[in-house]
Amino acid sequence: MIPAAFEYYRPTNMDDVIAILTEQGDDARVMAGGHSLIPMMKLRMADVPHLIDLQGIGGLQDITINGQSVTLGAMVTQHELINHAGLADVAPILQETGLQIADPQVRYMGTVGGNVANGDPGNDMPGLMQCLDAQINLVGPNGKRSVSARDYYEAAYMTAREDDEVLVSVSFVAPKGGYAYEKQKRKIGDYATAAAAVTITKDAGSVASASIAMTNLSDVPVWSEGACDALVGTRCEVDPLKSAVEAMLGDIDPTEDNRGPVAFKRHVAGVILKRAITRAWDRA
Ligand code: FAD
Repeated sequence: MIPAAFEYYRPTNMDDVIAILTEQGDDARVMAGGHSLIPMMKLRMADVPHLIDLQGIGGLQDITINGQSVTLGAMVTQHELINHAGLADVAPILQETGLQIADPQVRYMGTVGGNVANGDPGNDMPGLMQCLDAQINLVGPNGKRSVSARDYYEAAYMTAREDDEVLVSVSFVAPKGGYAYEKQKRKIGDYATAAAAVTITKDAGSVASASIAMTNLSDVPVWSEGACDALVGTRCEVDPLKSAVEAMLGDIDPTEDNRGPVAFKRHVAGVILKRAITRAWDRA
């Protein structure tokens, strides 16, 4: 398939990006790795008369680690996430998640910013960012602002980002303790049928805190406070595990598609979540 004709821009500073977005409104979109946007344009599911390539903008490629505080520039690729030694030490869940995204070819191009900004319910990083309680950092004509990842997703492909804003980075405090990213997919390189991001801290042999989010089981990623609460103070025995799964199943709203009917997805969600909690607890 061939996309509709478009104007291509490759600015070298953010002011010019924002000026084009402001001038062209809905008709303009930024492009990062292009591995979600270009297929959509080729399928004519996205009409982008003005395409702004972010590859020429400096300062978006950095991974900054300061103690437990981590900032990932929007143009950091999934490949870089997986292969950054310092990041694997401070927040290994990023590496575990990155390795579950697509395949190496896609990961060389696909970026953190594109994955998080897109609002595709199938993308793996939004659920991870909710689990990490990340801040999504935006810049637009009115300056900078940050939105919690837990408030950012409104509906499929609808987010708190305004059309004239650019995602510049995501930042979070790396959790200590155990972690797991578990994903069920139909084949290597596929989007999730269900995926779970879990972090757990332990104190005196019990769960001190837990954070749990799931992917591709609703039109937005789902961080479940009820599932987290079900684990706190327990040793993740059978009953608390069951309560956590029940709480999550009460929060998700899967729909039937080529990954299966609703009952199957709910079943897979439960299996995946139990596996992720068990692995995070074992590592805590
Ligand atoms: P683009 O395609 O360039 O952009 C995507 C959208 O985000 C566009 O609307 C664009 O305007 C917007 N955008 C991009 N950057 C910014 C920014 N900085 N600020 C504001 N808006 C921005 N992803 C997964 O998570 N899991 C998978 O299993 C998976 N499998 C895949 C398999 C295949 C075969 C392919 C082609 C892709 C797959 N992906 C998967 C998607 C891949 O990870 C994408 O690259 C990623 O989701 C989008 O990143 P990108 O940099 O390519 O963004």
